[in-house]
Formats: sequence, C-alpha cells, structure tokens
Amino acid sequence: MAKITLRQLLDDAAERGYGVPAFNINNMEQGLAIMEAADTVDAPVIIQASRGARSYAGDIMLSKMVDALVEMFPHIPLCLHQDHGNDEATCATAIQHGFTSVMMDGSLHPDGKTVSDYGYNIDITRRVAEMAHWIGASVEGELGVLGSLEHGSGEKEDGHGAEGTLGHDLLLTDPDQAIDFVRATGVDALAIAMGTSHGAYKFTRKPDGEILAMRVVEEIHRRLPTTHLVMHGSSSVPQPLQDMFNVFGGEMPQTWGVPVEEIVRGIKHGVRKVNIDTDCRLAMTAAFRKVALQSKSEFDPRKFLKPAMDALRELCRERFEQFGTAGNASRLKPITLADMARRYRSGALDPKIEHITQAA
Ligand SMILES: [Zn+2]
Repeated sequence: MAKITLRQLLDDAAERGYGVPAFNINNMEQGLAIMEAADTVDAPVIIQASRGARSYAGDIMLSKMVDALVEMFPHIPLCLHQDHGNDEATCATAIQHGFTSVMMDGSLHPDGKTVSDYGYNIDITRRVAEMAHWIGASVEGELGVLGSLEHGSGEKEDGHGAEGTLGHDLLLTDPDQAIDFVRATGVDALAIAMGTSHGAYKFTRKPDGEILAMRVVEEIHRRLPTTHLVMHGSSSVPQPLQDMFNVFGGEMPQTWGVPVEEIVRGIKHGVRKVNIDTDCRLAMTAAFRKVALQSKSEFDPRKFLKPAMDALRELCRERFEQFGTAGNASRLKPITLADMARRYRSGALDPKIEHITQAA
C-alpha cells in the first residue's frame, strides 16, 4: 500500500467520527512499535518527524525507514508528516523526501521562537499550501501560539517554541480569525491554541476549563464544522509512567498532561489529529531505567530497547482504541498524490466555509 495523505485520512476520520494520534519518531524502534500496534488493531497511522528528528536520523535514513515500514505493513495506511515546519524550505524538502503532509507553523518566525504577526502567518502558510497542493500533499497550519495558560509560556520541543511570556490573546485561538485564516490559506487542517503545550510539564494540577480551554475547540468547530482541528501537546503523561520512571531512579517532578477523556471530547468536536510525543518518550525511557536499575550487568542495547518497544506499542494501541482509530485501516484505499493534486486543482478540496460566513 502506498502512503496516504493527511487530507484523505482526516476526511475519513471526520466522516466516521474518529481521531488519529500523530506519534513522533526518530528511530527504527519507534517506527516498528507504532506500526505493530496499528497492525494489532487495524488502525491507520500518522508518523511525524520534527526538524530535530530529521537532523538526528538524517532525511535519507528517515524516509527509507518509513518506506520499509510501508513495505512491512502493506495493509496499514501511513501518513508521513512534517511536524512544525518553520519555513517554506523545510516543508518543500520534507515533501522531496516522501512526506505526504507538512505543517507550516507560521505562528512563529523561521527561528522557531519569535512570535509572528497574523499577516506573516497567512502569507507563508498560503504559499506552502499552494506549493504542497500542486503535488497533492497536505498542509496543517497553526493559528495562535502554543503555551500554558497558567504561566503564559511554552516549553520548547526539539528547539521549537515561543520565547517569553504571552497573553491569553495569543494563547487562545480566536474563532473569527480561524474562519478568515482557513479561507485565506486553504489549509487542510488547523492546529489551534487552547492551553496545551509541549513537553512533560503541561499543567501543575489536573486541568480544568481555566487552563485547558476545550470551549475554544467547541466554538471553532461550531463555526468551522468541516475544518479538521489538530491538538498539539496532547500527551496525557499517565501517572503510572511517571511513577515507573521515578521508582527506577528517575527524577521527574509531579506533572499533569491532557486527560484522555478531554481528547475524546475534542474528537466529538472536530479534533482529528492528536499530537503525542512526550508519552512515547516517557514509555520508552521508563523501560530503559527499569532495565538499567534491575540488570546492572546488562550491556546489550536490545535488552533495553525491546522492553521499551513493548511499552511504546502498548501505549499506541491504547490511544488507537481510545480515539476510535482502530478498525479503520483495511477499509482505506490511499489516493495517489497525483490524484489528490488533480482534486485540489479542480477546487473540490477548497475549504467549505461560505454558508458559515453568511450565517454569522
Ligand atoms: Zn506541536
């Protein structure tokens, strides 16, 4: 089976009311664990790579690894997505290396830390969307800046994240602006800011509506019912994983992530892509710690990596089931990039928001 585009996958998810977790990878073990989990429950897959992952593994290694996963799991549709592209070149070279989808994060300047203005975001995102759609690839844009509503800042993920303290005007996506942004840029999916942030330290307490603004998701979905919404920073940082990490010698301060039930609520309101990285990292490194502490003479890296893959596979399988992704892989028949490009050219995939505008 060929790779699938984000647009086709999320269109299907919207039609059937499920969400798709997007897991970050840097290496073979993560790729295998994610695909084995998907295979177990018949789930389509979004694998994403950050700029950090591309420089860690190298573009050629990453793209050949994903080609191998596609060949090994021919019945599992796989979307390869650029996470947080910072400029046109990052997005163009991702597509050149076989990515079927890119995120153009124009909420920040290309340095990945300076907050941009709205005009800049529209211009660069529209340019990337035009370019990607010429060849049939999909584009995710971002409106609003990711960061904590508790303290007004965000943690960097692989060096990417706003610096300084931000106001709620930036940390919460404006629903009116979202309509304008989607219309002006033609993005296939929209990442929104609603209190989630990257890294393990998202909330200092179990989040409520004050610090995790699910109402923003619901309001944007009400006004843009056909736009696929994306939740970033949506690891749940499960307590058992934190405990395991600490029991085996780790020193992770108590933290709270995004509860799975809040994500499931989001999926009922247009969230189709859910970015999860921290949970995957924590599942693997907690397993490393256990082996390191319990088997002090062990020096075969596979003895560390196998339990880490087991833990990651289990985490991914849980999310596929919780988000309703399970059971949807074998039914999907990937549309080629060339065919997707034709559909974009015909206007069939343009944002459908005219009637919403009139109603408002
Ligand atoms: Zn993100």
